[in-house]
Amino acid sequence: ESRLAASVDEVNKLQRDVEMIQREAMQDALTGIANRATFDRSLEKHMCEAREVGKPLTLLLCDIDHFKKFNDTWGHLTGDQVLRLVAEVMNDNVKGMDLLARYGGEEFAVVLPGTSVDNARKVAEKIRAAVESRRLRKRRTHEDLGVITMSLGVAQMRPEDTRDSFIERADNCLYAAKSAGRNRVCDERDMVEILHHGAA
Ligand code: GH3
Ligand code: MG
Ligand code: MG
Repeated sequence: ESRLAASVDEVNKLQRDVEMIQREAMQDALTGIANRATFDRSLEKHMCEAREVGKPLTLLLCDIDHFKKFNDTWGHLTGDQVLRLVAEVMNDNVKGMDLLARYGGEEFAVVLPGTSVDNARKVAEKIRAAVESRRLRKRRTHEDLGVITMSLGVAQMRPEDTRDSFIERADNCLYAAKSAGRNRVCDERDMVEILHHGAA
């Protein structure tokens, strides 16, 4: 009986280990938010669901401005702390079904199910303002590191979109935000305006 009880304990422990490893495999180790693999999988899932229920789906792609310079000035480890802070600030500004992920080095993505492009813009603008509002200080020395800003692209899924084409349209909007001067939000309507201005 006691051998059986020991086996049960062992199985339970293994079960907990497996669950922990599964959780860790889904998370970005630095920031604790969803990683790229989780983002890819859940974007696919959200796109299917949005089609099924006929609700809008929007995607934010966000990239820290001039982050290379920040790293060069303050060091990569301090840069890593900033990435953690940015993830935290972003997490404070999304809710419910929204999925926040670290998309790449200093790039983040937010999937917003059931959210129109106008409302997604509001979320993006809130994130942009919240990041900009944080005065950065080195933890130990309290040295003032200034502020960092973020550029954001907003795209709404179209019926014909694949995962890649959806991401690419959000990325084009992000690129437009960078080109227009950084620390701003652009959606596809802004792109049309930028093109018109470019042509004029
Ligand atoms: P831009 O405004 O055009 O985005 O300029 P940028 O310097 O942010 O962009 P770029 O893509 O040229 O460089 C991204 C930099 O982000 C490169 C690297 O120094 C930094 N970076 C990427 N991943 C990490 C990371 O995990 N930790 C730290 N500390 N820095 C990272
Ligand atoms: Mg980048
Ligand atoms: Mg950048």
